[in-house]
Amino acid sequence: MTLSFLFERIPCTKCERLVEYRSAIKPKPLFSHYHNNPVPPFGDENAWLLICGLAPGAHGANRTGRVFTGDGAGVLLYRALFKEGFSSRPESVSADDGLELKGAIITNALHCVPPGNKALPSEFNNCRPNLQSLLAAMPLVTDILCIGRDAFIQVYKALGERPPEFKNNGEYRAGRYRVWAIYHCSRLNQNTGRIKIEDMVSLLKHIKKSGQDKKIYDKFK
Ligand code: SF4
Repeated sequence: MTLSFLFERIPCTKCERLVEYRSAIKPKPLFSHYHNNPVPPFGDENAWLLICGLAPGAHGANRTGRVFTGDGAGVLLYRALFKEGFSSRPESVSADDGLELKGAIITNALHCVPPGNKALPSEFNNCRPNLQSLLAAMPLVTDILCIGRDAFIQVYKALGERPPEFKNNGEYRAGRYRVWAIYHCSRLNQNTGRIKIEDMVSLLKHIKKSGQDKKIYDKFK
C-alpha cells in the first residue's frame, strides 16, 4: 500500500490565523525560498516508530518543508536517529537531500507554524485528524515517541485518551501503542543542558531493545 497521499503537501486552509501567519513569513537573507505551507510527515511508510513533535519552526521546517529540518532541534534529532540506525545520514538539510529513514516516521501535532510557537486549542483540534489518519494508515506502528510535553498531550488527545503526567524518559501504554516521552530538543533546551544528544540516543536505543526485532531497522548500519 502506498501512503504517498500522507506525505504530499496538504493544501489545507482550515486555520485562518495560521494560514495568514505562515504566508507572511519572510525569508532570512541567507535563504531565497521558504516553504510557508503545512509540513507533511516524513519517513518510512513501513515505520514501527512514530516520532511526534509539536509544530514546524518558522525558520526550520517551515523554511525547508521537511519536518524537524533547518533548525537546532532537528540537528540533534537526526544525529541521534543516524546513530541508532534509523537514518541514512546524520544531517537533514532540505526536503530533497536524499536522506531516508528506516523504521521511523516523523510528524508534528500541528502541521503549520504558529506565531510565537503557541497554537490555539482550536488549531490543534483542526489538525488532529491528520495525526489520526497517519496512525490509522500505519498498522506497523507500535511505538510513539513524543518530543516534548505539548506533543505528548496532543498525541494522547489524538488517541482519545486522557494524558497522564509527563515524565522525561517516561514509558506509557495507550491502546495498542507504547508511548515514550522526552524533553523537547529545542536549541533553548540544548543550551540550558535540559537535553543532550546522548539522552535522545539512549532513549532510542532503549525503545529499540525493548520491543523490536533488530532485522527491521539495521539497514543503515
Ligand atoms: S495547522 Fe493543520 S488544520 Fe490548521 S491549516 Fe495547518 S494543516 Fe490545516
